[in-house]
Amino acid sequence: MNDLVVVGNGMAGVACVEEILKYDRRFDITIYGDETHVNYNRILLSSVLAGERSSDDITLNSLEWYQRHDIRLRLGTRIVEVDPLLKVRWRRTTGCCSRQAVRPSCRESKD
Ligand SMILES: Cc1cc2nc3c(=O)[nH]c(=O)nc-3n(C[C@H](O)[C@H](O)[C@H](O)COP(=O)(O)OP(=O)(O)OC[C@H]3O[C@@H](n4cnc5c(N)ncnc54)[C@H](O)[C@@H]3O)c2cc1C
Repeated sequence: MNDLVVVGNGMAGVACVEEILKYDRRFDITIYGDETHVNYNRILLSSVLAGERSSDDITLNSLEWYQRHDIRLRLGTRIVEVDPLLKVRWRRTTGCCSRQAVRPSCRESKD
């Protein structure tokens, strides 16, 4: 199975994954998002800030959805570099900064 790494847990990225899942499941999927929430409808964000809706009301894909589809979800993690040899660097947006390879099979950036 090939690795599919999606940078950004927003509406577009997850909608793309939803389409892929409708067809042959040929990918081991990991989604990285620098926000700490599951995918939500950003267009409705103003109504949450205005107190008209709760954050649950605008959730598009629950944590259960990611689990059901065996999607590895890495929240609070910002990808800072992807190089052509599939070496990537990330740092957590919450807590202490760190740096590692995105997938265990990828080599860690040295600099
Ligand atoms: C208050 C508000 C109201 C809006 N109203 C409308 C509207 O009425 N109509 C309309 O058409 N559009 C509207 N928009 C715009 C709409 O929300 C965006 O066009 C849409 O969210 C874009 O989706 P996206 O998935 O491409 O990007 P985003 O929603 O920006 O999602 C990208 C995600 O990826 C994450 N990310 C980005 N870079 C990295 C990285 N390097 N590493 C890890 N994670 C990363 C971001 O944090 C984000 O969670 C509105 C936006 C806002 C904020």
